[in-house]
Amino acid sequence: MDLKQYIAAVKDFPKEGILFRDITPLMLNGDAYKFAADAFTIFAKEKGATVIVGPEARGFIFGCPVAVNLSIGFAPVRKPGKLPRESVTVSYDLEYGSNSLSLHADAIKKGDKVVIIDDLLATGGTMQATIELVERLGGEVVGLCFLIELDDLEGRKLLKNYDVKTLIHY
Ligand code: 5GP
Repeated sequence: MDLKQYIAAVKDFPKEGILFRDITPLMLNGDAYKFAADAFTIFAKEKGATVIVGPEARGFIFGCPVAVNLSIGFAPVRKPGKLPRESVTVSYDLEYGSNSLSLHADAIKKGDKVVIIDDLLATGGTMQATIELVERLGGEVVGLCFLIELDDLEGRKLLKNYDVKTLIHY
């Protein structure tokens, strides 16, 4: 299925000069959404995933259906202050400033095989921070899934030690 037709390009969002890839038309098309979720489900099953992890907010959109398909758990990665119980937190640099992400300390058990799912790979900073959270808790990251990869930003270089599955390239 040609999934690209369901991605809208939005100029100057959220800031001037940014071409934002909007995934909501794909989510609105049941066949396209299912196609993407099924492709990630097959990958996660092959990898022997015991838990799916997804960073907020669009990682939930693709991560949760995969976890449900496989009858395994889903753990949300969130901005600090959103998770109510003991958490681990990692900070990472952005072009301007920095960002932090958190994961509940009991979300990952030592030896869990984790597939991390997000909507889009740009610089790879979000995924690298998410990997660090999982590994700090003793999880083994067995694969990474993205709906979209922006090839020019070379985020894959940061993730070279991991098995990456992407469905759409720009
Ligand atoms: P990175 O950390 O790889 O530079 O950026 C990826 C993160 O930013 C992802 O969590 C993704 O949701 C968000 N993101 C950055 N640019 C876009 C975009 O054009 N479209 C969408 N849907 N998300 C984006």
